[in-house]
Amino acid sequence: MTQQSNSAVTDESSAVTCATCKACCCKLEVMLMGDDDVPEEFTVQDQWGGWVMLRLEDRWCAALDRKTMLCTIYERRPFICREYQAGDSDCLDERKQLSLPVPADMVPD
Ligand code: SF4
Ligand code: SF4
Repeated sequence: MTQQSNSAVTDESSAVTCATCKACCCKLEVMLMGDDDVPEEFTVQDQWGGWVMLRLEDRWCAALDRKTMLCTIYERRPFICREYQAGDSDCLDERKQLSLPVPADMVPD
């Protein structure tokens, strides 16, 4: 990653919205914690016996509405999803890995 593109991503942080991202973080593995209360049909056991959000063949979480790209269990989404904030470092890393375009008004001169 070049210095210029790094600075572009940093500048992007103030303009990051999920609307320009198509829920790329909802393709990540989401481990479930003890207090999570997720509908059972959206969960699956991993190879180590832990519980995670089920992902479908397109790799997105089973709880994601494919048309709206919104979480269908927003009020009951797992702790990890609640902690994951648009614009924070994890979010920016994810966007950077996917080479998401920087909004035109945020490209440095
Ligand atoms: S939180 Fe970040 S990575 Fe997740 S959908 Fe929103 S902008 Fe994309
Ligand atoms: S539970 Fe909701 S916010 Fe969390 S990964 Fe699935 S669709 Fe995304």
